[in-house]
Amino acid sequence: MKTHALITKSRVPPSEADEELCIRFVNTVAWRLRDPVEDRMKTTTALLEWFAAAGVADASFAARLRARWENHPREGESFRESAVRLREAIYQILLSQIGGKAFDRSALKILNAATGAHVHGLGIVPSKGRLVWRSDKRDSAADDLLKPIAWSAVGLLMGTRSRKVRQCQDERGCGWLFVDESRAQNRRWCSMGDCGNRAKVLRHYHRHGGRESASSR
Ligand SMILES: [Zn+2]
Repeated sequence: MKTHALITKSRVPPSEADEELCIRFVNTVAWRLRDPVEDRMKTTTALLEWFAAAGVADASFAARLRARWENHPREGESFRESAVRLREAIYQILLSQIGGKAFDRSALKILNAATGAHVHGLGIVPSKGRLVWRSDKRDSAADDLLKPIAWSAVGLLMGTRSRKVRQCQDERGCGWLFVDESRAQNRRWCSMGDCGNRAKVLRHYHRHGGRESASSR
């Protein structure tokens, strides 16, 4: 009884703000592995509140939609259904990724449609157990190749990793950028095999040289 009361209690993950936007969206369903699940996007009002809190909809846009959907509830409900469909598609794709299972084609179709990528003849498709960008139109233009790069930049800038981008501190002027995923957030070089190793060797050399000059004095 006691534990049951505890685990069914509504909760907000402490690290919520530290998760990527799409993960936070997927996590609007709590207790996914129990029955029944707890869906926090059951109404258009809850949905709009979420979009506003997540920083996706600004206050005036959210207010405009709220007012519109009061008069056109079916339109609001239809949007909510689309949002839920996208959320569940993302969940399925991420689950496949986690479990190393085959990606669900219909889930990918929903995600591709939502990115608008298909307008440019682009989409993500499974290939050899992972996802790759694919052009599915014969009339795709060279400019379409820049779209995934731009989306990647927007995803990085608007995501939790934006604060972790660093530039290699190599003294020769390497200049490569990287995302510092180290726990201590103190990574200094693009790679330990390249600039990091060189810095280590140099440090060792200087230490060794320092001792030598001291003893020769
Ligand atoms: Zn470097």
